[in-house]
Amino acid sequence: MAAPGRDDVAGLVEQAREGRPRAVARLISLVEDESPLLREVSAALSPHTGTAHVVGLTGSPGVGKSTTTAALVAALRGRGHRVGVLAVDPTSPFSGGALLGDRIRMSDHATDDGVFIRSMASRGHLGGLSWATPQALRVLDAAGCDVVLLETVGVGQSEVEVSGLADTTLVLLAPGMGDGIQASKAGILEIGDVFVINKADRDGAQSTRRELRSVLGMAERAEGAWKPPIVMTVASRQEGLDDLVEQVDLHREHLRDSGELQLRRRDRLRREIRAIALESVRRRVGDLSGHAELDALAQDVLAGRTDPFSAADRVLSEL
Ligand code: GDP
Repeated sequence: MAAPGRDDVAGLVEQAREGRPRAVARLISLVEDESPLLREVSAALSPHTGTAHVVGLTGSPGVGKSTTTAALVAALRGRGHRVGVLAVDPTSPFSGGALLGDRIRMSDHATDDGVFIRSMASRGHLGGLSWATPQALRVLDAAGCDVVLLETVGVGQSEVEVSGLADTTLVLLAPGMGDGIQASKAGILEIGDVFVINKADRDGAQSTRRELRSVLGMAERAEGAWKPPIVMTVASRQEGLDDLVEQVDLHREHLRDSGELQLRRRDRLRREIRAIALESVRRRVGDLSGHAELDALAQDVLAGRTDPFSAADRVLSEL
């Protein structure tokens, strides 16, 4: 397929805003493949973003993230929301639906035009999640999604990254998974806006809840700060999802009313701009290998006329 030209980007964005799935998918591909049109896509999307509430799901593998994502889609669709799902695998080189192929429950939603489901691999991008994911979120936002669910699949230290991209972060726990350890792991307590004890049909759900409640109770919080609630779910049976959606709504209201939403989003954008700038510097410096000036600088260091740090400063000042 020929790459779309200038007018096509505007056309694609227009179609995506009308909610056409093919246009949404194409735009995400352009973003993911780092198309030369990426800048143009980003510029065309920007005026149409800021509406979607981004909900991140984190938790250990097997805790029920995929099942909860599917159950949340159903609950949100039941309320008439348009929903986007972005499943990001920071470790996989594959993408474009392969990851979601075996997620049978999601196929319930495959023919629903109010749901956009997309999986994305970060393909070893240096910036990983922090670089490509915000662009894809922007596409789904511009496509009119009221809520975008952001889930990471595969293993890795992606929990904290997810919370950096989300307005509301759900931390999932399950009984019998080494509760104390899961909760204290990798600062997961600090990033949770809503805690979900999934597999509440299993033994030990109540003791997991008690333990979590006491650990959360120890945290110091400022006056008027959000107190993360604990929701019990059986995602595989669609139980507890109304409660979960309600808590997400309450958190969203809190963010809006307290002004924290703007602060979080501004922080997120600062990180995104920084990631883009760093990547750009990295590439420009990388492009210098074999460059005559680099040879000359190396020769100067070799001859003792300068030192490597000063030489690197020269390289940076001339980018
Ligand atoms: P993920 O790795 O965190 O995405 O976890 P999955 O959503 O793939 O779920 C892992 C397993 O737990 C699957 O076999 C699910 O069917 C099962 N599961 C998910 N939610 C529940 C639940 O609420 N109760 C029970 N008993 N099993 C569940």
